[in-house]
Amino acid sequence: MINIPKGTKDVLPQDAYKWQYVESVARDTAKLFNLKEVRTPTFEHTELFQRGVGDTTDVVTKEMYTFRDKGDRSITLKPEGTAGVARSFIENGMSGGVLPAKLFYITPAFRYERPQAGRLREFHQFGVEIFGAKSAQTDAEAIATADALLKRLGLQVKLYINSIGCPACRAEYNKALKAFFAPHLDGLCYDCKNRFEKNPLRLLDCKEETCKKINANAPSMLDYLCEDCKAHFEEVKACLAGAGVEYEIDSRIVRGLDYYTRTVFEFVSTAIGAQGTVCAGGRYDGLIEQLGGAPTPAVGFAAGMERLLIVMEQTGVQIPEPQKPTVYLAGMDDKCRQKAFELAARLRASGVSAEIDHMSRSVKAQFKYADKLGAKFVAVIGESELLEGQMSVKNMSNGETEKIAFENAVAYFTHK
Ligand code: ATP
Ligand code: MG
Repeated sequence: MINIPKGTKDVLPQDAYKWQYVESVARDTAKLFNLKEVRTPTFEHTELFQRGVGDTTDVVTKEMYTFRDKGDRSITLKPEGTAGVARSFIENGMSGGVLPAKLFYITPAFRYERPQAGRLREFHQFGVEIFGAKSAQTDAEAIATADALLKRLGLQVKLYINSIGCPACRAEYNKALKAFFAPHLDGLCYDCKNRFEKNPLRLLDCKEETCKKINANAPSMLDYLCEDCKAHFEEVKACLAGAGVEYEIDSRIVRGLDYYTRTVFEFVSTAIGAQGTVCAGGRYDGLIEQLGGAPTPAVGFAAGMERLLIVMEQTGVQIPEPQKPTVYLAGMDDKCRQKAFELAARLRASGVSAEIDHMSRSVKAQFKYADKLGAKFVAVIGESELLEGQMSVKNMSNGETEKIAFENAVAYFTHK
């Protein structure tokens, strides 16, 4: 017996409608905000992620699924959606088109992590990227998109925002961080010792308890923002207030990926424990240039679909049940079954969902099966019905029965 790989999940037929629901709400929300879908490959050249996610990040240093293909190229399964979309934006000359480019995607992502609830090795993201607009309003637009999605899904979440400034003011802040952490170096984890030199901001993102304790007293980026970054952040807050999006400021949010600038944000569910961050994003004005494109401001976010579903489940959000067959056609013998098959074909061609017997069951057993399927009507075709050219139709919700001529079947069941 070959089992499913660790950290992956099957979506079983009885649960697929939940995924379809979340995906359709995501697509509807994207439409509301005039976002257009982009689909990029599941694998890319490894270098894209090294440059586009950042080679000091956990994602790149520890979590990527990287392999050599038969042509000896280094290939990586996408660990997130932004880098591929940014590559596509540059490669397809989207900067020469209408700006901003407002894009969304739904994609699997792959990270070699320690699997636990809400943390998988293959997971799925709904993501939004807006390229070419530098205004604070666009940051607020990205946040408002995520907020609309979460509200439409019926989720209770808290929004935390922060600004991590621009390369200019962050240089000052990094100095202050280094000065703060220097006396604590011995108490930091191995990764943080490395981060201290390469990217001290990322020390604030560490999940180790001992590092978290030290972090608690670290200086706040918000005290180091330059005038422009401060004004930008104030405007983001004003836009959010205007749109009725509630937020809290959390100066500890820095985001795991490099190339974020200014606004960063996370939506956190209070309903689930450790993996409560359902959606995260921010502005990343440095990325497109880092990948070889012309300097292009950008802002976006990604929501983890598995985490959305977990929170919905745990907070009792009702997901609309999938549609059941309108009619089950029960044939008494082989000849009647053939008629049922023929009628089913006609009904389906007219858009009526119909089911028939595939197991040569008795009519009684077929009734049971139709009930299990939740069919609204059961149409019985026996010897006498076949002769009369009609079927006995039972309305399964009130038990009423009537005879319907075969030639009227389509008209009868359409709009039922
Ligand atoms: P975390 O801090 O939980 O590791 P992250 O900062 O690595 O998250 P991002 O790279 O920002 O996450 O990804 C955006 C969203 O994707 C997260 O907020 C989360 O909802 C989801 N996500 C990230 N990693 C996983 C995973 N391994 N399994 C399931 N969902 C994930
Ligand atoms: Mg992570």
